[in-house]
Amino acid sequence: MAIERVGIVGAGQMGNGIAHVFALAGYEVLMTDVSTDALDAAIALIDRNLTRQVSRDLITADTKADSMARIGTTVKLTDLGPTDLIIEAATERETIKTAIFEDLVPHLKPDTILTSNTSSISITRLASRTDRPEKFMGFHFMNPVPIMQLVELIRGIATDEPTFKTCQDVVEKLGKTSTASEDFPGFIVNRILMPMINEAIYTLYEGVGSVQSIDTSLKLGANHPMGPLELADFIGLDTCLAIMNVLHDGLADTKYRPCPLLTKYVEAGWLGRKTKRGFYDYRGETPIPTR
Ligand code: NAD
Repeated sequence: MAIERVGIVGAGQMGNGIAHVFALAGYEVLMTDVSTDALDAAIALIDRNLTRQVSRDLITADTKADSMARIGTTVKLTDLGPTDLIIEAATERETIKTAIFEDLVPHLKPDTILTSNTSSISITRLASRTDRPEKFMGFHFMNPVPIMQLVELIRGIATDEPTFKTCQDVVEKLGKTSTASEDFPGFIVNRILMPMINEAIYTLYEGVGSVQSIDTSLKLGANHPMGPLELADFIGLDTCLAIMNVLHDGLADTKYRPCPLLTKYVEAGWLGRKTKRGFYDYRGETPIPTR
C-alpha cells in the first residue's frame, strides 16, 4: 500500500522528532495534540533542529523550507481520518491510548494502518481495542528520533504481512533501519539494555566498583560509547525504573528486580541529566560522580 499522508498523535519529545523525519523524507504530515502549546513548541523545535541540519550542510535551506511546508497541525484528532498511516506517540498511559484509537477509528479509511510508538504497552492489547488488529502494529522510534538510526517494528498477534511490509518500506524511506520484534515486554532494545543498566546499578550498590570504575570499565573494556550509569542518567532514572517494572511485572521473573539503589535515586528526585543530578552531578562545569 502506498503511504503518502501520515498522522502523528502527540507532539511531545517523540512526536516532534517523528514529524521531523517523516516531513524530511517527503511525507505529508498532520500532527495533533490536546495542547496547542505542545503543537507550537513542536513546530518551533522542528524548525530549530532543521536549521541546525542546514548549518551543518546536511540538508539545503530549500529542503528545510519544503519539509516545514509539509507539516500541518490540528487539535482535532478526527482531522487525521484521511491519512494512510497513523503513529500514536501520546503520553504513555493505556487509557489515553485506547481512548485515542476508539475516537479515531470511526473516521479512518478502511486501509489506514494504525501504529503506536509505545515503549511498554502490549501492542496486541491496544490492537484488540480497534476495528483492525491485522492493520495494527508497534512503530518504536528511539530518542532523539532525528539522530537514532533504529526503528523497532513490533508485530501484534494479529498483524498481517502486508501491514508489516508496508511499515518496513516506510522505515527504509526514512533512511533508517528496522528490526522485527515480537510483542513481549521491552521488545528487544529495552529487554537487553535495561537489565544491563540495572546490573551496573547493582554493581555500584554492592560496592564492587565506583561510578567512575563501572563506566570506564564498560567504555574501555566492552567498547561501549557511554558507560551504563552515564547512559542511565541520559535516559532518565525514572524511565529506567518504569521499564524495569514493566519487565519484572510482564515477565514475572526475579532476574528483572529493579535495584533498590535505582529506586532510592528516583525517590530523591535525582533523575539524571533532566534534574541535573543522578549518578553524576551536572550542576558544575564537568559531571562529578555522586557515589
Ligand atoms: P511526552 O510527554 O513528551 O509527549 C506526549 C504528548 O502527548 C504531550 O504533548 C501530550 O500533550 C500529548 N497527549 C496526551 N494526551 C493526548 C491525546 N489524548 N491526544 C493527543 N495528544 C495527547 O512523551 P514522549 O516522551 O514523547 O512519549 C510519547 C510516546 O513515545 C510514549 O508512548 C513513550 O512510551 C514513547 N517513547 C518514548 C521514548 C522516550 O525516550 N521519551 C522513546 C521511545 C518511545
